[in-house]
Amino acid sequence: MKKVVKFGGSSLASAEQFKKVGDIIRAEKSRRYVVPSAPGKRFSADTKVTDMLYQCYAQAEDGKDFSKLLSDIQARYNEIIEGLELNLSLDKEFKVIKENFEKKAGSDYAASRGEYLNGIIMANYLGYEFIDAAKVIFFDENGHFDEVQTNKILSKKLKKVDYAVIPGFYGAMPDGTIKTFSRGGSDLTGSIVAKAAQVDLYENWTDVSGFMIADPRIINNPKTIEAITYKELRELSYMGATVLHEDAIFPIRNEGIPIHIRNTNAPKDKGTLIVEATCRHPKYTVTGIAGKQGFASITIEKAMMNSEIGFCRKVLQVFEDNGISIEHMPSGIDTMTVFVHQSEFEEKEQKVLAGIHQAVQPDSIELESDLSLIAIVGRGMRSKRGTSGRVFSALAHAHVNVKMIDQGSSELNIVVGVRNHDFENAIRALYDIFVTTKL
Ligand code: ASP
Repeated sequence: MKKVVKFGGSSLASAEQFKKVGDIIRAEKSRRYVVPSAPGKRFSADTKVTDMLYQCYAQAEDGKDFSKLLSDIQARYNEIIEGLELNLSLDKEFKVIKENFEKKAGSDYAASRGEYLNGIIMANYLGYEFIDAAKVIFFDENGHFDEVQTNKILSKKLKKVDYAVIPGFYGAMPDGTIKTFSRGGSDLTGSIVAKAAQVDLYENWTDVSGFMIADPRIINNPKTIEAITYKELRELSYMGATVLHEDAIFPIRNEGIPIHIRNTNAPKDKGTLIVEATCRHPKYTVTGIAGKQGFASITIEKAMMNSEIGFCRKVLQVFEDNGISIEHMPSGIDTMTVFVHQSEFEEKEQKVLAGIHQAVQPDSIELESDLSLIAIVGRGMRSKRGTSGRVFSALAHAHVNVKMIDQGSSELNIVVGVRNHDFENAIRALYDIFVTTKL
């Protein structure tokens, strides 16, 4: 058994947290490749080291004195080193960082140092080899992740090293310039290492015990999802459920490597297993419920629309021409409705209306704003009678008016549109019917 273990920033924010991580890694010999994030917040008002680095570099770029901020960052690392009683000094590293900041090495370089330095500490603490991600993770000249080159070099390297620390979040461009993934990107590094080392499991350790069935800010103490498929996860993350970086599943989704979300502060908790497919029956009909607020809908009505070839294309072209992405598109016989992000749409609203009038000469166009979309997601809904019935009766009992319904033919999700002010009430009603009063 071979595992990659990735630890998020809050798991590595202090020496105390590092000790928990050390205990977890040492508990199993199979935990061979470690991917650390930069130190996160130690308490809620604290600042993540990554954010401190961005701020510090911004000062350097403006030609201001950044030495105070840089020494505050070094103090964060020194506190960890001292707490772990390591015989390690980062003075030389900080000297190089200072020089590179003066040379304006770029904000990606600056941010990447958070993971780089934490990786050095982690390797020293565990007695593992340190592998600089800039030597094994590559981006092409356009800044896109170079999967082929990375996999070639990284897998070759890991064949020779049994235990190693590979810092998350960054890699290098062909000319050696440091480049980072988007924020939270250490999750991606974990997947990339998992693929290259062909491990059996990718453990992603964080500060929650996995994915919750619904948002804990709305539902008090929601149940955790035990197992979820990649597809279900996509649907839920798209709707705003965030535990893992959205792109983290791509490198390994065709490799049969599951991701196990675990809690560093509660290592005995079961966590959530993310898999390609499973024959394990879900505990509830729905795997998760998630939603987003802030949508607008544009309903276009025209008699005999259905027989007009190219009608939808012409309407959609107007949105494309205005650079507006479309979220959902329910349609009737003589109507089609387009859901868009209100913030994207508002400033271009009149241009879009004029464009639609010119393109298809509709009988009328109606606009509605302040809408929310809620996705009820679950592989357990497939071929199960009555799920949509339960959705709508729960919403009706909660006095929520449903503005839109969209069920994908995969039967993996039902999306409903409601008004923003009904959003939380709707989620509570859905959680109640599917989880609390499990039938
Ligand atoms: N440290 C980076 C961030 O704060 C990357 C990561 O933690 O995954 O976004």
